[in-house]
This record gives sequence, C-alpha cells and structure tokens, in this order.
Amino acid sequence: MGGGFGGLAAANELRENLPQDARITIIDRKDWFMMDLVKLWILNGTREFEISKKPLESITKKGIEFINEEVTKIDPDNKTVRTKYRRFHYDYLIIALGVELAPEQIPGLKENGLVLYELEDVPKIRDMIRQMKSGKIAMAIMGLPYKCPPAPYEAALLIRSILEETGASGSIQIDFYSPTPVTLPAGGPQVSEEILQILKSKKIEFHGNHKTISVEPNKLKFENGETSFDLLIAVPPHKVPTVVVESGFTQGGRFIEVDRTCKTSHDHVYAVGDVNQIMVTDKIAVPKAGIFAEGEGVTVARNIIADIKKEVENAIFDGKGGCFLETGKRTAGYLQVEMFASPAPLTQLQPTSADYFSEKEKFERERLEKWL
Ligand SMILES: Cc1cc2nc3c(=O)[nH]c(=O)nc-3n(C[C@H](O)[C@H](O)[C@H](O)COP(=O)(O)OP(=O)(O)OC[C@H]3O[C@@H](n4cnc5c(N)ncnc54)[C@H](O)[C@@H]3O)c2cc1C
Repeated sequence: MGGGFGGLAAANELRENLPQDARITIIDRKDWFMMDLVKLWILNGTREFEISKKPLESITKKGIEFINEEVTKIDPDNKTVRTKYRRFHYDYLIIALGVELAPEQIPGLKENGLVLYELEDVPKIRDMIRQMKSGKIAMAIMGLPYKCPPAPYEAALLIRSILEETGASGSIQIDFYSPTPVTLPAGGPQVSEEILQILKSKKIEFHGNHKTISVEPNKLKFENGETSFDLLIAVPPHKVPTVVVESGFTQGGRFIEVDRTCKTSHDHVYAVGDVNQIMVTDKIAVPKAGIFAEGEGVTVARNIIADIKKEVENAIFDGKGGCFLETGKRTAGYLQVEMFASPAPLTQLQPTSADYFSEKEKFERERLEKWL
C-alpha cells in the first residue's frame, strides 16, 4: 500500500527476485509519483509539476499490478485490504502510506499562512516571493516529527537565493522558528551549528525553542511570545494516515512502532518509511526521509523473498543514507548519516559544492529510471 519511496523500492526488489507467479500489487490513491524534493525546484522556478510527475501505471510494464484506489480498511485478521470498490487478499502486506499533513491542528494557519509541503501552496509561495519588494518572511516548523529534517532550511536558503536574484534581498528579513533548540537535533550539535552558520551567512535568523500555538492575520503566536510577518511559510504538524488509525494499528496518534525488520505485531504485515517509527536511542528515531523509506522497503522485500524461498530471513535496515542540503544557485551540501553507528548516530555535513547539486539531480533521475 502506497506507491511512494518505500512502496516503489519494495515492489521493484520483489519483482526482480521472485518468479512471475508471485503477484505484486501497488495500491495508491494518486496515479502519479513525484519526489517531494521536486517541490523545492517548483519553489525556485526551475521545475514544473506537470513535467515532473511520472505515471504509476508505468510499473505494470514490469509485471507489477497497479490499483489507483484509496485504501479504506486494513484487516490483518482476515488478511485483507479494502478500497471503496474492492477487497484484496494478501499473503504479505507492506504499509508504505507515508504521513498526512495536519495544518488544521494549528488554529488560523490555513487562513493566514502557506504550507511549504503542500503541492498547491508551493507555486503560490514562489509567486509571492518573486513579487515581494520588502517586509518579513516567517518560516516555522510547527510539529515534530516532520519529513526530511533539512528540507525547511533548504527552502529558506532557496528563498534567499531567489530574493538575491530579484534584487529585494536587502529589504527582506527571513526569520526561522522551530520548536527544537537547535537546527537539526537528530544530526547532533556540531552539524546543527554548521547549519546555523550557513543560515546566518545568508541572513536567515534561526529562533529555537519556539513552539507555534496559533496564527492570526500577520501574527504568529508561540508558547513563549509572538511575532509579526508579511508572509508565513509553514511546515505543519504531521499525522499518521487516517486508515492506519481507523484500522486499529496505532493508538494515541503514534506512528507504527517497529524495529529494524519493520515487522508489525501482525503476521506478515510490515510498515516502512514515514508511516513508521524506528527508535535509535530513547530520544532519537530514524528521521522521516525518502532514502530511509527506500532502505526499509528493500529490507522488507528481501525478508519476504527469503520467506517465500524458504531461506533464512536475515535482512535488517542498516540506517545508512544521505540527504542533500541545497543552498541555492545550483549548489548543495551533503548530510551523510549512519543512524545505528556505535556508540551514537553519526551525521556529517559535507561542504557545499556544485557536484553535490548534480548528485541530487542524479538521485532523482536514477530512481525514476529504476522504479518506473
Ligand atoms: C520538500 C521536501 C523535500 C524532501 N527532500 C528529500 C530528500 O532530498 N531526500 C530524501 O530522502 N527525502 C526527502 N524528503 C522526504 C521524503 O519525500 C519522504 O520521507 C518520503 O516520501 C517517504 O516515503 P514513503 O514511501 O514513506 O511515503 P510517500 O512517499 O509519502 O508515499 C506514500 C504514498 O501513499 C499513498 N497513500 C496514502 N494514503 C493512502 C490511502 N489511504 N490509500 C491509497 N494510497 C495512499 C500516497 O498517495 C503516497 O503516494 C523530502 C520531503 C519534502 C516535503
């Protein structure tokens, strides 16, 4: 379930390693795939949605079935999944449904701000920034955890870069508010400081320990104060998909808790990617990122293949990956991550270069070619 990073990676790994009589089906309510990272390129005007989305139907050429319907119920007792029109039986089920954005959890946000992660809002943000001549832009992370921890900082840097192009940069203040004390808690103090310095060098003011409680016209309210803005760009709270909650998979709004095998408490049911929570220490979880959703999808697929072939299931998610930190003008840094390094998770930020930007483009291109 879910034709995003996790679902596509798992389905392809399964298809490449199982005989044709094994039926593999992806169910997604969307009929297209586009990496979320492309939203940043729509933001800075170097890409358009229409040419970036790829039809999920393409996977049928590989012998993977595609069902363009919304999953409305998961019933692990009867090993079935329901959509509005049909019921599907499964032997193995991979839940890769991602997250739902929940801007409604912050009163006033929808009326008074724009949502960076919402596809419809991104072109609006782009156009407003290009038209802005002076004033205050507030960017705010409004809930934890959120997808791709460095992405809001990339957006801030790209916005600064657009303003430098339009000539309005000197008259526009950018303030960045986060509920966390440092920029990237999962990356540790050193990487957080490095990101802070990059932001400072572009005159983006980071305000940690600012938990947003509501938004009013041109006013952002925190637990510990308030500020004014001309344009608000928000990363809203995220929540576990409704169907997962309604099917009784989790309680109390928690993401599906799994270990490094991604097995849920139900037989032959796995949860990969943003929909799950894999704790690394008692405080740090694997961040919600496509690269990890992909790694988890492949891990689960390998264990399913082993089970079908009556071999030993010995794949565990290695927690290794990397994420680009785009800094504007076709440059990027690279965050190299090893979540299960001993004695503590390890993140290193490789310096900004044009090469890492090319690597980011390649990251998208290679996966689209492989998966679809
Ligand atoms: C701006 C931005 C930039 C990012 N940049 C990066 C990056 O550079 N590198 C990186 O690794 N990650 C990045 N990410 C994070 C990455 O996009 C996510 O972590 C990744 O998409 C998670 O994959 P997933 O398979 O868990 O979920 P998704 O890719 O979100 O896929 C979930 C799928 O499930 C479908 N679905 C949901 N509910 C239902 C239902 N009830 N019925 C049917 N279908 C359903 C959805 O339509 C969707 O296609 C970025 C995110 C953002 C927002």
